[in-house]
Amino acid sequence: MNLCHCGSALPFESCCQPFHLGEAFATTPEQLMRSRYSAFVTAKASYLLSTHDPDTRQGLTEQALKQSCEESDFIGLQILDAPPFQQDEGEVEFRAWYRQGKEILALWERSRFRRLDSNWYYHSGDIQPAIKLGRNDPCPCGSEKKAKKCCL
Ligand SMILES: [Zn+2]
Ligand SMILES: [Zn+2]
Repeated sequence: MNLCHCGSALPFESCCQPFHLGEAFATTPEQLMRSRYSAFVTAKASYLLSTHDPDTRQGLTEQALKQSCEESDFIGLQILDAPPFQQDEGEVEFRAWYRQGKEILALWERSRFRRLDSNWYYHSGDIQPAIKLGRNDPCPCGSEKKAKKCCL
């Protein structure tokens, strides 16, 4: 069984993949966030583009997204806060851990999502300063080992 990249502990086939294939649609900002993270890991650039709010796409292309997927080496997602959404707007705060050289760093962001015609879209986000994983921290890949004995 292939566990989903988003850390849900569910199989990919019954978690984020149906969203990527257009067989299901995210019903909450957190679901969309998780499925977008999984799309980054699997370089599903078309999904990243199609779930980006048209108002804030600003010349973003599938090609550029594909390139940033291929250049990044994500190892785990941590959802820090996902309050219930209000009408057609919601927020999710997360850390997306990735490997860079000999370090593991987190992209830490509080993202805003907007619902248009019953579908959720990523709108924008406030990026916090990047943080570095400590050698004795639990590994964000989900192994429950210390980072130094796992991905670091
Ligand atoms: Zn998932
Ligand atoms: Zn690990």
